[in-house]
Amino acid sequence: MTALAREFTGIEDIREKVERGERLSFEDGVRLYRHPNLSEVGALANLVRERKHGDKAYYVRNQHINYTNICNKFCKFCSFYAKKGGPEPYEMSLEEVRRVVRKYKDIRITEIHSVGGINPRIPYEYYLDFIRVIKEERPGIHVKAFTAVEIVQIAEVGKKSIEETLADLKEAGLDSLPGGGIEVLSDRVHRELFGRKLNGEEWKRVARAAAALGLPQYATMLYGHIETVEERVDHLIQLRELQDETGHFLCMTPLSFHPEKTELEHIPMPTGEMDLRNIAVSRLLLDNFDHIKSFWIMNTPAITQIALWYGADDCDGTVLEYEITYEPGKYGYKNQALTPENMRYMIREAGRTPVERDSHYNEIPYDEEDDTPRGSRIPLPVVG
Ligand code: SF4
Repeated sequence: MTALAREFTGIEDIREKVERGERLSFEDGVRLYRHPNLSEVGALANLVRERKHGDKAYYVRNQHINYTNICNKFCKFCSFYAKKGGPEPYEMSLEEVRRVVRKYKDIRITEIHSVGGINPRIPYEYYLDFIRVIKEERPGIHVKAFTAVEIVQIAEVGKKSIEETLADLKEAGLDSLPGGGIEVLSDRVHRELFGRKLNGEEWKRVARAAAALGLPQYATMLYGHIETVEERVDHLIQLRELQDETGHFLCMTPLSFHPEKTELEHIPMPTGEMDLRNIAVSRLLLDNFDHIKSFWIMNTPAITQIALWYGADDCDGTVLEYEITYEPGKYGYKNQALTPENMRYMIREAGRTPVERDSHYNEIPYDEEDDTPRGSRIPLPVVG
């Protein structure tokens, strides 16, 4: 087993556990969050990351579709939903969904990722047809859609159980569930920030039902708002326990909170330190998750490059048309897509080996000759 030939001030016992491949405790997690030397935490996380994936850094070619921003949950951390003085309301018809899928038909992608607001006007059939339309336009594409909160809404509107709803969606072509929907598994944070949305137990119920149906899922944690270090660790350990039980999570993404245009605008934005630490501690605590993602849109490409040495092995995707965190064209954020060449360049410049993957983390062969040689300069989008 790989070892780190150096002393780790104050976390020597944790280093030894990591080197022996032992599971870390709640207390270890809190200590890692409080440890003053971030590089040491990062080096431990990198040990685990390289044990699992060596030098590889994964990405996927994907398109995002956010079908409506009308939402009746009013989460305090959210800048996406339509409100007075904020984004204008929209709801995509199925024809518009078809158009936006067709728009990029000539671009090779392997995944469509879709989430939206909780819009009570949308009928049950829309969600099934939404998936069918995507599959008609892009046969064989992986559809990752609807967070647990949307699943609860779809079930309610269809007057069906969660299990029946997921089975219908799967039958229509749903391939996996994205993360999100719970932010942090803490009753206090739930009460204070997103009390109208499902709670932790409901979120777990959807996860268990998805697992029972053979639908893989992704997990997330939104950090940098009102949550405490202990709540973050508790969230990660609850995810770990659930993964022990179901084994259906493919990846975990720590998501950096963006306070601009939310009710929490007074909270300073997470710094690079916080981004890297959350990735590193997630990697260290989640020993039963294969992949930890640095979502470059939220973390910026620059932090994502460093994160590849702090526990992350995945950068998400090339991402076409993302609207959740930033509204394209507004607030100075214009470009929210990376070309595959950009993505590979970003990874190579960070000293890792880019590997295109599908949504299940199967590797997709790539022509090395298409790669930009290390050291040549391709401008990356300015985000954040
Ligand atoms: S986070 Fe989701 S559920 Fe909450 S307000 Fe935003 S769109 Fe609605």
